[in-house]
Amino acid sequence: MGSISVDIPTARGDVVSSDRLGPTLMHEHVFLCDHEVNISWPDTFGNVDHHVANAVEQLNALAAAGIRTITDVTAIGHGRDVARVARVARETEVNILVATGIYVLAELPSYFRLFGPGSFIEAPETMTDYFVRDIEEGIGETGVRASILKVATGHAGLTNDVLRCLRSVAAAHRRTGVPITTHTSVKQNGRDQQRIFEEEGVDLSRVVIGHVDSTADGDLGYVEELLDKGSFVGFDSFALPLADLDTKVELMAKLIARGHGNRIVVSHDHACFVDFMPKEYQGDFYRKTYFTDVVEPRLLAAGVSEAQVRALTVDNPRAVFETTARGAY
Ligand SMILES: [Zn+2]
Repeated sequence: MGSISVDIPTARGDVVSSDRLGPTLMHEHVFLCDHEVNISWPDTFGNVDHHVANAVEQLNALAAAGIRTITDVTAIGHGRDVARVARVARETEVNILVATGIYVLAELPSYFRLFGPGSFIEAPETMTDYFVRDIEEGIGETGVRASILKVATGHAGLTNDVLRCLRSVAAAHRRTGVPITTHTSVKQNGRDQQRIFEEEGVDLSRVVIGHVDSTADGDLGYVEELLDKGSFVGFDSFALPLADLDTKVELMAKLIARGHGNRIVVSHDHACFVDFMPKEYQGDFYRKTYFTDVVEPRLLAAGVSEAQVRALTVDNPRAVFETTARGAY
């Protein structure tokens, strides 16, 4: 892409140059949980040392499979605890990049809900400054800076609170220059996100529209619609059983054959520990090495070249993070 390399902060507390990110999964989680529930009923989380050790073990297995970096897109609403992630990061060679932003599918957490644009009490947006602080100064007391912004849209569509999140993340992006990555649950979400971002003056080539592997469900036209507007698309939910693997692989091979191989990033949306979903609902696909073990061989069998797979895991994540060098605007 001819971009210049940038230093990306990691949860270890150091930085990694974008040309040294290596094979990268763009939409993962270390811990996905509900702090309020966990604090009230400690058995819902269990022993933190155990979970840290377990996450380290899973990430080391990922390193053994050749992945060098994950983007932990855990945001407010996901039980984000960067101090806990930093403990994991210090014990594994996998780089963990962390996110700021908010995961709201319908209604904001109480702290933000009643005060703000279009809310019960009309007031200026307060979320944006927190996101910017996470990017520029660091999160909580960890000093770990966020390198990407996360926002979501789901089945409820553009509720006032979801709109506030999209506009606030767009504003934080424009103030800092770090890229945006999104969660989508249905096709309309990707279109809505691009439309709102455009209204907010966001350069869509600095955005990853996430989970299109699941939401497109084989619809090439939908994905090309998003790509035509300049965004990256995430085939980044391989650990979610929302569309079958054959459909995802076939669609990806088709997109690559049609020249879009430089705009696709990949991931699982897997968490080392998750309390949102009972174990019995987590199938064989629910693991950190599923892409390298299962998806990659399937792509090669579908006629995708090794160089094209490398673009998905190495060149494209690098290109996403190097958009940061274009700066604030
Ligand atoms: Zn996710």
